[in-house]
Amino acid sequence: MSRPRMDPRSDRWPENATRPPAGSGPRDHGKDPLDVIGIGFGPSNLALAIALREHGGGVPGREPTSAFAEQQQTFGWHRGMLLDGATMQVSFLKDLATLRNPTSAFSFLNYLHARGRLVDFINHKTLFPTRVEFHDYLTWAAERFTAQVAYGTRVTDLRPVKGDGGDVVAVEVIADGELLGRARNIVLGLGLRPYLPEGVHASERVWHNGDLLTRLRTLPVLTHRRFAVVGAGQSAAEVVDHLHRAYPDAEVCAVFSRYGYSPADDSAFANRIFDPSAVDDFYTAPDEVKASLLSYHGNTNYSVVDIDLIDELYRRSYQENVAGAQRLRILNTSRVEGFDRVPDGVRVRVDRLTTGERVALECDALIFATGYRPPDPLDVLGELTAFCHIDERGLPKVGRDYRIVTDPALKCGIYLQGGTEHTHGLSSSLLSNAAVRAGEIVRSILAHRAG
Ligand SMILES: Cc1cc2nc3c(=O)[nH]c(=O)nc-3n(C[C@H](O)[C@H](O)[C@H](O)COP(=O)(O)OP(=O)(O)OC[C@H]3O[C@@H](n4cnc5c(N)ncnc54)[C@H](O)[C@@H]3O)c2cc1C
Repeated sequence: MSRPRMDPRSDRWPENATRPPAGSGPRDHGKDPLDVIGIGFGPSNLALAIALREHGGGVPGREPTSAFAEQQQTFGWHRGMLLDGATMQVSFLKDLATLRNPTSAFSFLNYLHARGRLVDFINHKTLFPTRVEFHDYLTWAAERFTAQVAYGTRVTDLRPVKGDGGDVVAVEVIADGELLGRARNIVLGLGLRPYLPEGVHASERVWHNGDLLTRLRTLPVLTHRRFAVVGAGQSAAEVVDHLHRAYPDAEVCAVFSRYGYSPADDSAFANRIFDPSAVDDFYTAPDEVKASLLSYHGNTNYSVVDIDLIDELYRRSYQENVAGAQRLRILNTSRVEGFDRVPDGVRVRVDRLTTGERVALECDALIFATGYRPPDPLDVLGELTAFCHIDERGLPKVGRDYRIVTDPALKCGIYLQGGTEHTHGLSSSLLSNAAVRAGEIVRSILAHRAG
């Protein structure tokens, strides 16, 4: 399949966008660069696409020219974890646009209206739709940008394009060695990468939870009728819940080093850490205050579980205890020490940390719900890294407007959506602030264009 190019002269150029003024591009290759190329087309860059379009307001010439590259073949938001009944951890009002523009046509409410479910949703009396429904909302919004997105395209490199004076006046976006397009601004919205503990490699019977539904679809009939799930966070608890419901003949062993699942703090005052204004507070705070805030409020997001889900798992475990048929097994204060391939399965060695006892579990699959990590943006930045200011942790220095601080010779903007928890706070990798952040990035891009 040939890869769609993001060339302003190609058919993929968005109908409602204006071409950049002739001659504004670098002279050495004679092609006009776009205003923005976004790398990754998850919710963050989708929110950016919306903010750019709404800036234009449908007025010819006002919308900055933009295109996006996405490695997935079609739009998808954590498809492997679209578990039946799993709900959002964020209010639907923190959708792709509402906090930036409450009158946006891209709001979740407008999506409900378009789907003919607005009244039904209201009767549901919830702020937290299912992830399946939110995925449908995101897909509905993404479909309005199909002409601007090159799907099935993994960006591997960025290269500087120099103008006559030697300054970098545009950036070439490279996907698997091929030139995809040029832009004056690059917005990295790469999301998070699944994390497996050191030495663990995914295989037919060993997965990260991000692949859960995809892997389960191809899992043959269970031989051992047992699963082991490593981890004590929201994803781990959701996987335990899902497997326990989906495989009524199988045992599900939850293995974690804590004593029990800990509840997520979603109380109102703590939740303010995700407010748009909290980004200002965090950004300007001294480093030690930043570190304290991340540590005080990590339990709003990391290694914690919704209290309703904890209660549900406990209720089920207790009922099984009463019935004398324990299928949900909580191996707390325990650690997976290793595992071996066995016919039709995997033998998991679990150490009980309190007693030193070792247990071997023959399982059909071992699932690591061991979290996600931000990718290193420098891996994609390639030669542009030389222009970026790097801090003592080896991370790019980032302005409040999410623009990487660079040498003056780089006339282009490189923006980060995600991977800025250390500078902008806990909402960095979440949806809470996606709409507002997208607006701030658009403002910054326009301010640099004007100035
Ligand atoms: C199961 C699950 C549930 C979650 N639920 C919530 C929730 O309820 N509320 C909340 O606030 N957050 C939630 N999160 C956090 C999650 O990070 C955000 O929901 C959201 O995905 C962030 O959007 P993003 O666009 O920054 O990243 P992503 O959604 O990860 O999108 C990044 C995209 O970039 C693409 N990409 C990466 N590298 C390249 C490349 N080199 N070239 C081309 N494309 C590339 C990826 O394929 C991906 O589509 C959840 C996370 C998970 C895993």
